[in-house]
Amino acid sequence: MTHVTQDDGLAGTVTARVPAKVNLQLSVGPLRDDGYHDLVTVFHAVSLFDEVTVRMADRTSVVVSGEGGPAVPLGPANLAVRAAVALARATGRRSKGAGGVRIEIRKRIPVAAGLAGGSADAAAALVACNELWHAGLNNSELTHIGAQIGSDVPFALTGGTAVGIGRGERLTRALVSGSYQWVLAFGATGLATPDVFAACDRLRAARGARDGEAPAVPAPKLSTELMAALRSGDPAAVGPLLTNDLQPAALSLQPLLRRALSAGKEHGALGAIVSGSGPTCAFLAADPDAARDLAVAITGAGVCRAVVQVSGPAPGACVVESRALHP
Ligand code: ATP
Repeated sequence: MTHVTQDDGLAGTVTARVPAKVNLQLSVGPLRDDGYHDLVTVFHAVSLFDEVTVRMADRTSVVVSGEGGPAVPLGPANLAVRAAVALARATGRRSKGAGGVRIEIRKRIPVAAGLAGGSADAAAALVACNELWHAGLNNSELTHIGAQIGSDVPFALTGGTAVGIGRGERLTRALVSGSYQWVLAFGATGLATPDVFAACDRLRAARGARDGEAPAVPAPKLSTELMAALRSGDPAAVGPLLTNDLQPAALSLQPLLRRALSAGKEHGALGAIVSGSGPTCAFLAADPDAARDLAVAITGAGVCRAVVQVSGPAPGACVVESRALHP
């Protein structure tokens, strides 16, 4: 008798899943001489996932489908491509001409939305290629490579809830009880992160000029109240403590976001905040039923392009299907 194995076209492929993030705190220090800002942030991964599938190929290439796909670069600027190339280089595959990989990204995380979708795809490409190539790098080695691709990549690898300092890439896990129910409201158009930081600097300078002297922007500091609320596991305690120094800047660039935030608060959100550099607004709800009601109400208010209900903390980038060939 002949044993027939059906070829489903997946032999030699690895798929990884990776979450979006919201920032529960985002404190932005003064503009540094090198053009960056020191940050203190509390990252929180939520159950909105991109999927990245990789397979061996002669040349590296990428295709993107799903939410915002046409806005994603398909060449070397794609963060998943940059991650795969960096891993191939670090493991010596590139110099042997064996670092080619075909990357398929299925996006559910909107692009330029303050949810770190590009960094997420880079993290997924790192864990998927690590498996495909049997490279055997550990998490801290992948994190080291990821930090060179983008400051949010280390968190996309880690997931959960974590405090980030520096540019956000130096992480410490946060102690969090329970799970949190969120509604995310997506904006009609994206916001480029550098534009939002520039608007933040302009607003701070204008405030200084108005007040007669430029007040020194304080060094960012972790909110001990927020950390205590997260340990308590009580969303009603966490909601009022959500903060984002970039929110005024995002609102100045997209004034309609004010209406979205107000709609969420009017319909019972425990906390309402712009996520990262925006324009996504994140609303915290008491439980899954309250989140569903809130999602319905915000959709009905017509203040955003789309609404999703998610929970956090979600795990970081991980392989969900491996048909890697034996080395
Ligand atoms: P962050 O909050 O990390 O600053 P963001 O969530 O606001 O970023 P991203 O979705 O990460 O924004 O996209 C930022 C830019 O990165 C996009 O405008 C796009 O040109 C570029 N980019 C490169 N690779 C990707 C990718 N795989 N997915 C999405 N965007 C990508």
